[in-house]
Amino acid sequence: MTEVLKAYEAIVGHDIVDELSQLAAILKGIKILHLNSTRFGGGVAEILSKMVQLTQELGIETAWETIAGSQEFFRITKGFHNALQGRKEISVSSSVFEVYEGVNAENAQALRSKIEHADVVFVHDPQPAALIASFPERKNKWIWRCHIALTSPKRYIWNYVRNFVSRYDAAIFSLHEYAEPLPIPMYLIAPSIDPLSDKNCDLSAEEIAAIYPRFCIDPSRPMLLQVSRFDRFKDPLGVIQAYRLAKRFKHDLQLVLAGGGAHDDPEAERVLQEVLDAARNDPDIHVLFLPGDSHRTINALQRAATIVLQKSVREGFGLTVTEALWKNKPVIGGNVGGIRLQVNDYQTGFLVNSSEGAALRIRYLLQNPAVGKELGERGHRFVQDNFLLTRHLRDYFTLILSLLHPGGRIELGKI
Ligand code: UDP
Repeated sequence: MTEVLKAYEAIVGHDIVDELSQLAAILKGIKILHLNSTRFGGGVAEILSKMVQLTQELGIETAWETIAGSQEFFRITKGFHNALQGRKEISVSSSVFEVYEGVNAENAQALRSKIEHADVVFVHDPQPAALIASFPERKNKWIWRCHIALTSPKRYIWNYVRNFVSRYDAAIFSLHEYAEPLPIPMYLIAPSIDPLSDKNCDLSAEEIAAIYPRFCIDPSRPMLLQVSRFDRFKDPLGVIQAYRLAKRFKHDLQLVLAGGGAHDDPEAERVLQEVLDAARNDPDIHVLFLPGDSHRTINALQRAATIVLQKSVREGFGLTVTEALWKNKPVIGGNVGGIRLQVNDYQTGFLVNSSEGAALRIRYLLQNPAVGKELGERGHRFVQDNFLLTRHLRDYFTLILSLLHPGGRIELGKI
């Protein structure tokens, strides 16, 4: 067993790593390719970097490629993203679809040899979904992995994207409520975090303490934290409002809003500006715009926080919640999407529907630190059992097996 696998074993136990190794042995020789639209920022990039490493560690050839696109393309796909998550109408003309399909066709050409080399192609989210149109004669298996919340998608955009998605061999959704009917096999697989990554590994007390002077945060006062891309669905302004309401009762409260943009998100700058405007004149609000590789910094901030907020109004899964629970933090989360899967109200945190609700829970937790500790510990165990990378990869392996060997009998013990 490699050193890395031994390190996983120390966290998740022998049986889990053993099962993964047995599945990998059956799959030996296949080549997997993951395709998405950004290497930095956001949950998909976060998962892929670790998923690819662990798959390779288990002896399976795995690659990760991203599609390239113009600003216009990413503006259009951000519009799709918003419409698919039901946020707002977007005006679409035929030129929008031409740009979307044109950029996908160009990427298909650029990536053709890599795509054809793979036995299994995972295409993540809508941006590259139309790549499949350029491979009508394909022999490999294509899986569309949807990370976003298709709870009430604007129909005309979903029908358009669905046209491409229906050509895949299977689709994966994170949650039952996001799964839109499709004429292909559909699977539910929750995302995960990597306990060995810089984002989630243990840190020394010194490394955690170093973030206080670095960001002018007072270590002796309670600190609220939300880590998120600057995106309206994450409701950073609602977080500021909750903090302000709670601060009326707890005057020494501080708030840290840490985020960055993703390369495929052209709206981030505008949202950041709104947040900066709202935070102006309050030295206890720290808005941190961090580079995409600030994993240890985010890890330290999460460990330093008294309470972690994720007050999203729409959320695919919410890896930031998983990360905070893993660090034994009480989490106050928006009562939406994958946050509901992780924050079991009153068990592993609190679910809220408004800034006022969040403020009440903040006050409660600050007055009852023992409850916060208990919630955090339960949250850690919940993540250990359900949302670590090893479970996620096992689900992918079993899905690949079922696609490559439909109806086949595979006996794990006989390897
Ligand atoms: N993240 C980061 N830097 C940032 C903001 C977010 O590294 O400035 C990470 C965060 O720690 C988490 C992921 O990006 O791992 C966000 O995933 P989540 O599912 O919470 O939201 P998404 O951005 O995918 O909507």
